[in-house]
Amino acid sequence: MGTASGIIKALNSGIKHIAIKRFTLRYPEEKLKFVGDGYQFDPVSGVGVAGLKGRHILFHDKCTGCQLCSIACEGIAEAISMVKVNEKWKQNKKSIMPQIDYGKCVFCGLCVDACPFYALYMTNDYELSSFSKEGLIYTPAQLQVKPNIEQDAEIKIDDRGATHG
Ligand code: SF4
Ligand code: SF4
Repeated sequence: MGTASGIIKALNSGIKHIAIKRFTLRYPEEKLKFVGDGYQFDPVSGVGVAGLKGRHILFHDKCTGCQLCSIACEGIAEAISMVKVNEKWKQNKKSIMPQIDYGKCVFCGLCVDACPFYALYMTNDYELSSFSKEGLIYTPAQLQVKPNIEQDAEIKIDDRGATHG
């Protein structure tokens, strides 16, 4: 391609995009809205439900303390430790549940795939920054809290590209 035709092509491409609404969001005033509730996995059908791989949610009434999530993470990031909880659940004789260190987690979702009891999913919460390393460690009590997410900017995709509402 000659220099002149390259310049024309670049100008043409630039002109085409002048009328397109900017995709940049004014974060944190605007936050991208994700489809669905986050990544999940159905152990019976063996099928994953597509969704954002953000902060986990742990359902204490379903967790058996089997440690399969922790074992799945061992070869990946060693982000899960099993810790004692001051709760008594008949399905969890040892009263242990996963604690997740988001300073190590790579959000792969393998722990969710490994959980056979529908106890561990991921959510759309990606705002996990902290001033301390300790603040990135989520105890079972913190993991059971449903995140309060306010995301209002939806992606719109058409033949002219992606924009947001
Ligand atoms: S999502 Fe995080 S905690 Fe789960 S297996 Fe991957 S690295 Fe480990
Ligand atoms: S979250 Fe699931 S895999 Fe992890 S200990 Fe509880 S039941 Fe087992």
